[in-house]
Amino acid sequence: MAATIIDGKRISGEIRVELAEQTAAFKNQYNTVPGLAVIIVGEDPASRVYVRNKHKACAEVGFYSEVHELPADASEEQVIALIDRLNDSKEIHGILVQLPLPGHLDEQKILLRIKPEKDVDAFHPYNVGKIMIGDYNVLPCTPAGVMQLLARSGVSASGKHCVVIGRSNIVGKPMAMLLLHDNGTVTVCHSRTPDLKAQTLQADILVSAVGRAGFVTADMVKPGAVVIDVGINRNAQGKLCGDVDFEAVREVASMITPVPGGVGPMTITMLLQNTLTAAIASM
Ligand code: NDP
Repeated sequence: MAATIIDGKRISGEIRVELAEQTAAFKNQYNTVPGLAVIIVGEDPASRVYVRNKHKACAEVGFYSEVHELPADASEEQVIALIDRLNDSKEIHGILVQLPLPGHLDEQKILLRIKPEKDVDAFHPYNVGKIMIGDYNVLPCTPAGVMQLLARSGVSASGKHCVVIGRSNIVGKPMAMLLLHDNGTVTVCHSRTPDLKAQTLQADILVSAVGRAGFVTADMVKPGAVVIDVGINRNAQGKLCGDVDFEAVREVASMITPVPGGVGPMTITMLLQNTLTAAIASM
């Protein structure tokens, strides 16, 4: 039997309805509107689309949001001065710097400047450390979105063998940590892992965050596994796809996320969640 599709669009929609309700209650209680500031430096078209979508999503749940567009040749001092101003702003509870930044800017230095309380991407080492010890307020958006997809599909990592392919700071590593907090037994694989297939075949929950179309094939998946595809790629025909050979793997897995319509829609929703959490924590 073909796997059940985990519908990220539907689940994301459900969470946004809940967030809109929580936002209305927050406004009533504190007479304050949750506020998000997004900084974009340069003209990267994909980044511009992401920023527009974030702005739209904020309006949808009743947040205030502002977009700060800086020219591609903006200096580090300019970006930092803006962050300092937003750090001190009473209207802004979350600050996000859209990545990637132009090469002349020191990404780490800029991200470190955001106050940890307003770091709604959860990239600041303070928040990364909090996640490590399991005492967190905000979570990195993509792994948090995966945990929501699992939970809302009735899947717990507890007692399961979870295999994560990828070890980036924004997806793979925090993903592994969240599965561990959910009592999974976690294996993290990467480009130096020998015999990857031997590892993935152990997975009750398999999360792929590699960034290569067709990377996870059906023979790498244990029958009945839950397969989460974080990858965003273009296939040979230029069509948007994930890392997983979807049509073949859905015949082996018990549940699977599609691309598009799986993990992708959850990421902005978790950003909204983090912004509301930051606003509540600031009261
Ligand atoms: P990175 O390029 O930072 O990380 C990719 C990881 O894959 C690395 O850890 C790398 O290993 C590993 N890898 C590469 N080749 C292999 C291989 N042959 N075998 C095993 N592991 C391998 O990417 P990100 O983590 O930033 O993103 C991963 C994917 O997720 C991308 O497609 C990205 O577009 C997508 N993405 C999707 C989001 C969403 O909202 N759905 C949000 C963020 C990302 P090593 O460390 O050894 O190099």
